[in-house]
Amino acid sequence: MAVILELRCPLCDRRFSPDAVAYTCPSCGEVGTLDVLYDYEQLKAQLDRDALRNRRMQSMWRYRELLPLLPDSSVPPLDVGMTPLYEAKRLAENLGVRQAWVKDDGQNPTGSLKDRASALIVARALEQGISTVSTASTGNAAAALAGLGASVGMNIIIFVPAAAPEAKIAQLLVYGATVLLVEDTYDVAFDLCYQMCVSEGWYCRNTAMNPYTTEGKKTVAYEIAEQLDWQVPDVVLVSVGDGNIIAGVYKGFYDLYQLGWIERIPRLIGVQADGSAALLHAWQRGLSAAEMRPIDAQTVADSISAGLPRDRAKALRAVWETQGAYVGVSDTEIVAAIPQLARLTGVFAEPAASAVYAGARHAVLSNVIESNESVLLLVTGNGLKDVKRAQQSVASGLRVQPTLESVRLALQNM
Ligand SMILES: *Cc1c(COP(=O)(O)O)cnc(C)c1O
Ligand SMILES: [Zn+2]
Repeated sequence: MAVILELRCPLCDRRFSPDAVAYTCPSCGEVGTLDVLYDYEQLKAQLDRDALRNRRMQSMWRYRELLPLLPDSSVPPLDVGMTPLYEAKRLAENLGVRQAWVKDDGQNPTGSLKDRASALIVARALEQGISTVSTASTGNAAAALAGLGASVGMNIIIFVPAAAPEAKIAQLLVYGATVLLVEDTYDVAFDLCYQMCVSEGWYCRNTAMNPYTTEGKKTVAYEIAEQLDWQVPDVVLVSVGDGNIIAGVYKGFYDLYQLGWIERIPRLIGVQADGSAALLHAWQRGLSAAEMRPIDAQTVADSISAGLPRDRAKALRAVWETQGAYVGVSDTEIVAAIPQLARLTGVFAEPAASAVYAGARHAVLSNVIESNESVLLLVTGNGLKDVKRAQQSVASGLRVQPTLESVRLALQNM
């Protein structure tokens, strides 16, 4: 059983008992997104890498002792996590690095890494006997919560801005979630969701507000380490919007380092869209999370569009602590990266996820990544999530008559 020692605020360093605080730091407010810390000495005595090796369970629950759940509580039945990790030789050559891997988290049940967070939140709700979980989101987080909720028959309530894309809303409705179309912005929907959760006793999954989303997402770092036999890459690239995923990746490696299972934490490179680069700018200027001000975010990669990243404190720390970097990529590069990554690796990513390929190119060109280093690209979402954008990134097919002659002619004129 994971013994949560305390919740700790990365900004003011205050510590809280997990029973005393459910969401963000009471003194810092929303910017103070809390860390969940364990008694690592006790965990070392309970679990080691050899014990893991013999576990057959191929999902994030193989790391159960390292998750904030009681030993006998039930978890959702969908297989979240233990997604494939591929070595990609042509990608390494193309980037000009020693070795490259892709971790395909688009293979999760609802098509994105967000399933890891939602699976844990749903498990915690089950444990606490809470029957309704709610979140504000326009995209993958909501789909993940709707899908994981459906797998256990839980009541899921989603707040989305009324202007959210139809296709994203469809996935929520298919899973049977109650979808509230708020006639205002995402920020307003976010606050409304939280207020309803407090007044109705629903559990609030809002990204970064709930400290346990990171605890679910951290399992991707555990898998990267285990799948590479505990020899972690020099660099891990992660696309960043609110900063909760990069915070989770950092937390996962941090846990493993505390346990003595890895020798170092990889450098983390956060990739942002140029039109939504609040963290890149803060990092370049040496601003703290508390000093950051909202920007008007605009990018084709909707999953990484964030004017004031919700998990900014932990997202900045992840890069500072690992001597990593933030890089920015243009929308044109993001769209072009969809087929580039797919053709080099066979992995089809949604725009926000393909951005890591564009980011890797930038990082190599600017010597943030050296040619003798090994890099892992974390693919956070499946390309089928945004087929429209994918279509814009490629030429159309060859139209032919059903004759050999017509086919040959078309191939000649390619
Ligand atoms: C949510 C998401 C991201 C960004 O995660 P943040 O925690 O907001 O930084 C990146 N890619 C995909 C596919 C996502 O769904
Ligand atoms: Zn604080």
